[in-house]
Amino acid sequence: MPSLSSEALDVTNPASGEVLARVPLSASADLDAAVAAAREALPAWRAVSVIERARRLFVLRERLDARREELARSVTIEMGKTLVDARAEVARMIEMVECACAVPTTMQGKIIEDVSRNVDAETVRQPVGVCAAIVPFNFPAMVPFWFLPFAIACGNSFVLKPSEQVPLTQQIAFEILDSLDLPPGVVNLINGSGEVVEGILDHPGIDAVSFVGSAPVARIVYERAARSGKRVQALGGAKNHMVVMPDAVIDQTVAGITGSAFGAAGQRCMAGSVVVTVGVAHDRLLPPLREATEALRVGDGLDDGVDVGPVVSPQARDRISAAVERALEEGASLVVDGRGAEGGDGGAWLGPTILDDVTPEMEAGREEIFGPVLSIMRVDTLGEAIEVVNRSPFGNGTSIFTESGASVRRYRHDVGAGMVGVNVGVAAPVAFFPFSGWKDSFLGDLHAHGPDAVDFFTRKKTVTSRFFSTGQGSGSYFVES
Ligand code: NAD
Repeated sequence: MPSLSSEALDVTNPASGEVLARVPLSASADLDAAVAAAREALPAWRAVSVIERARRLFVLRERLDARREELARSVTIEMGKTLVDARAEVARMIEMVECACAVPTTMQGKIIEDVSRNVDAETVRQPVGVCAAIVPFNFPAMVPFWFLPFAIACGNSFVLKPSEQVPLTQQIAFEILDSLDLPPGVVNLINGSGEVVEGILDHPGIDAVSFVGSAPVARIVYERAARSGKRVQALGGAKNHMVVMPDAVIDQTVAGITGSAFGAAGQRCMAGSVVVTVGVAHDRLLPPLREATEALRVGDGLDDGVDVGPVVSPQARDRISAAVERALEEGASLVVDGRGAEGGDGGAWLGPTILDDVTPEMEAGREEIFGPVLSIMRVDTLGEAIEVVNRSPFGNGTSIFTESGASVRRYRHDVGAGMVGVNVGVAAPVAFFPFSGWKDSFLGDLHAHGPDAVDFFTRKKTVTSRFFSTGQGSGSYFVES
């Protein structure tokens, strides 16, 4: 159904400034219609057997796979990341569907006989109802699929609100979903910005809300959705530290750090945005890190050989450049300066930037910049490094680079972050594990994807039962007409 809204926003290609489309900023009437359709779909969708629901997901997987290059190009064109990054994102999107296909197994309940004489107890899982997701600009393909396939696999209906900055990739995904012949209203797409989000949070017809975006909005969403009695999970921003020990294998470490800090132009909640060097690691790391960073090529993500695409908009470029300027005023030193990088006419260019002599108190050491800016801090011991990481209000991901098992053991045990990499850049878990951020990076109880998804998208019902006959009888006495 087309939007009833008269307001619309330009969607632009960040590599050229070209206007690609206009996205409607949906009105409350659109939201009401989407929620009404989703509610109406619930009984019919729940009546479809769980095995048949899984079969539809197998078909979805095949149809996404058949259009994976088109989806990846759409991601690059509307968001800016390189085609290599976009292909990896679409692969992860498809992996989410593959994980959700296991629903006839993962949705199983539990039963135990004889909790008392002739009494059995069982827990079954049932769908929650109408589930909504509100998602950010930086993963137009994957993040909506952290939720959608799991929600519908479990028998819920679903309302998705993509970021108004990148609404186009989900148009393709929904074209594919439409081809599955799901009962009408099982999946619904609603475009718009903050006003629609507020409508979702307050809507009495919505039972659960999944949010991914910046930390301040995550907090608003978490509190407001909970106030109206909804189940809610809110994934927020991050500041991810990468600790480099003196014994790290430097060339592999440099590759891990540059990929983590500058992939998707640093616009990932799992971007490694701070390096904490321990002792002599600083002197070993800095020269090759500078060299590797200066060699990265900035340009249109569709072009071969480009390592770093544009940031999402000219406004984002100006905001990030201003953060670099403030870091220098606070005493950071500039190792690589990406400001003024050029990648082609009309693009929002900002090259990889490295700041040294950053401290945890400085803005650049404390707050999410969400751009291709890497801050370096120095400490003398692993204990101090752990203290620095644990002082951050965020706790999404972190990595340690070392060949020492004892250092790894201590780090993974003591660090206050929910996802830990060892000799890899800050790593997002595969679909079969939960995306398990901590602290201000996550508000809620149940995380995205993996086993947590089935817990989030189902309600438990516990039945205690007893029967009085001996089970010996037969014939018409036991047959109901
Ligand atoms: P954002 O918070 O600006 O927007 C996210 C969503 O919220 C969008 O759909 C937007 O329309 C809506 N929104 C924005 N402002 C709102 C408001 N005031 N009230 C109600 N709704 C509002 O985030 P973004 O800029 O699109 O994405 C970048 C942020 O997302 C970064 O902070 C990044 O770390 C975070 N992120 C986190 C994760 C994670 O898993 N923790 C994953 C991806 C991105």
